[in-house]
Amino acid sequence: MTATVLDGKSTASDLRETIAEEVHQWLEQGHARPTLAAVLVGDDPASQVYVRNKERACEKAGMHSRLIRKPADTTTAQLLELLQELNGDPAVHGILVQLPLPASINTQQVLDAVSPLKDVDAFAPENVGLLVQGRPRYLPCTPHGVIQLLVKYGLEFAGKHVVIVGRSDIVGKPLANMMVQRDLGFGPQFANATVTLCHSQSENLAAITRTADVLVAAVGRPCLITADMVKLGSIVIDVGINRVNDKLVGDVDYTPVSELAAAITPVPGGIGPLTIAMLLRNTLTACQLQAQGQQAK
Ligand code: NDP
Repeated sequence: MTATVLDGKSTASDLRETIAEEVHQWLEQGHARPTLAAVLVGDDPASQVYVRNKERACEKAGMHSRLIRKPADTTTAQLLELLQELNGDPAVHGILVQLPLPASINTQQVLDAVSPLKDVDAFAPENVGLLVQGRPRYLPCTPHGVIQLLVKYGLEFAGKHVVIVGRSDIVGKPLANMMVQRDLGFGPQFANATVTLCHSQSENLAAITRTADVLVAAVGRPCLITADMVKLGSIVIDVGINRVNDKLVGDVDYTPVSELAAAITPVPGGIGPLTIAMLLRNTLTACQLQAQGQQAK
């Protein structure tokens, strides 16, 4: 068997076109231009690239982006003050704090200071709670990208065993919360999964992953998922991004696994591009919700 390669790049490009068209219509109706404020602290090279890509994507979709750079020695209190300003600025609809923040900063306190209405990463406790209850305000970007890709290829997962390796608040946990819902707006066939969430303390990881109809790797370890851990004919989604000898690789041992799987995502060109597209979606939604006068719960 040779797996179908799930092309995140072209899927993201289609989604971005749709979003750009919606932004255009929104502006034609006389509304404010959706604006994303990105806060970048310090000079981590990878973070600079990520933020630049997000800015470019915003501009291409017809949205504004505002980059706020702060030096590495910025204090938590200074960041809290900045976020208060951005929260109160009606011209800013979405706020993104690029992670990781320097070790001297209290990351949780900073993230908690972003208004839930402008929390386009969907990290705020209120937004996490709404998602768990099946009535999301914003869908978290990377998990949303995973689901969009499955939808695009018609890979239904209702009733299937989805095994997610990695339980971070950014990827694994919210993806589990999404896939287990009854319907998140993609139709019940793209929900209703039986989800197993694995992590570094899970015993017999390979025995669990071998039972997966859909296996998602979101760990950050090259080649963690080897062919002996994958069921024949399964769908393998590799969220991991690792730099090895100046090349980007995922968490999945791609070539042998692609000989077993029915479908697989490449790295790069898989989930990464979708994450940015979903950030654009949330920025537009944020602008629309604020225009309707939605208040925090
Ligand atoms: P975290 O480091 O926050 O989480 C990693 C998770 O993997 C943890 O739950 C950890 O378990 C688990 N883990 C670590 N080692 C093992 C192991 N040997 N077996 C099983 N589980 C293990 O990472 P993120 O979720 O932020 O990111 C994961 C990967 O996805 C990274 O490579 C990151 O670069 C990439 N990423 C890609 C994005 C994209 O757009 N494509 C977006 C975000 C992330 P424990 O909780 O027990 O420590």
